[in-house]
Amino acid sequence: MKSVLVCGAGGFIGSHLVKRLKREGCWVRGVDLKHPPFCPTAADDFIQGDLRDPALCAEAFDREFSEVWQLAADMGGAGYIFTGDNDAQVMHNSAQINLNILEACRQHGAGRVFYSSSACVYPEHNQTDPDKPTTEEGTVYPAAPDSEYGWEKLFSERMYLAYGRNYGMPVRIARYHNIFGPEGAWNDGREKVPAAVCRKVAEAADGGSIEIWGDGLQTRSFLYIDECLEGSLRLMRSAWPGPVNIGSDQMVSINELARLAMRIAGKNLSLEHVPGPLGVRGRNSDNRLIARKLGWAPSQPLEAGLKKTYAWIEQQVMSGQATAHRPRATIPP
Ligand code: NAD
Repeated sequence: MKSVLVCGAGGFIGSHLVKRLKREGCWVRGVDLKHPPFCPTAADDFIQGDLRDPALCAEAFDREFSEVWQLAADMGGAGYIFTGDNDAQVMHNSAQINLNILEACRQHGAGRVFYSSSACVYPEHNQTDPDKPTTEEGTVYPAAPDSEYGWEKLFSERMYLAYGRNYGMPVRIARYHNIFGPEGAWNDGREKVPAAVCRKVAEAADGGSIEIWGDGLQTRSFLYIDECLEGSLRLMRSAWPGPVNIGSDQMVSINELARLAMRIAGKNLSLEHVPGPLGVRGRNSDNRLIARKLGWAPSQPLEAGLKKTYAWIEQQVMSGQATAHRPRATIPP
């Protein structure tokens, strides 16, 4: 039986990944500061602890794993990573986690190591046109990410690649583009735009309005969690060692995303544009490399995933949790 370690197993992508790996018959150990908030973990073994602590890493890596999935990071949506208020903490926490995990992999051995990077590594100047942003993998240099979160991801990508070169460690790097789905952050200040939009629509009375940050003409693409996992597993088990985009290439404006959520909800709402943290003007996933190297690329329409996500968020709102506002997952300094 394959022994697998999932770092960040209490998070959105990590908790879904654990379920998928269990369905495939793996023995899974999860590690995270917290258990998954919305359903019990499917992991065989779950260590609750801080991956910034090398002693915790030593405990988690007390055996050789055929796969190590590194998804732990100090992260959140635009309201968390683009305000500037959390920059030092985001960089310090995530870099420390990656330093520790790589050393633990080197010392204890790991069959393959997966690192979850981000579309936030791409240069800001290639993403100023909302209709024609560039995220072809090779355009990441000369580097100019628009957030410290992106700079940390780029630094860590390089560190994973260096460990791969110098220690013969097989690493796989995905650059995720806006992954969404049920059982993700939706009201704790770390939620991303699809969850935030679904929550606002679910909370609004028909005929009312919802707030959208900026003019809503900024563009993005959004990938449903199932296809994110499919792409990640295919990448992990492929022979391709370089960073690859894992995202949808169905680009929409934030206004279009909001209108889609309204249509799904059957509500007629107006959009109230207010100032807020925005990120780049346009972003879409360039899927040419993934299609070439893996013979596969995401293909599901946004609407299919948004329907499932809206249904889950509406259920959370109806069960009265929206007003309670979950406490933030706190990461001590
Ligand atoms: P998430 O915040 O839900 O999961 C990250 C998990 O890491 C959390 O459960 C958190 O508690 C854990 N963590 C943070 N600090 C830790 C520490 N010191 N020790 C142990 N655990 C710690 O995020 P997610 O959406 O599941 O993202 C997973 C990975 O994918 C992250 O690395 C993220 O940067 C990357 N990513 C995600 C997206 C996306 O759209 N969701 C996009 C690009 C990249």
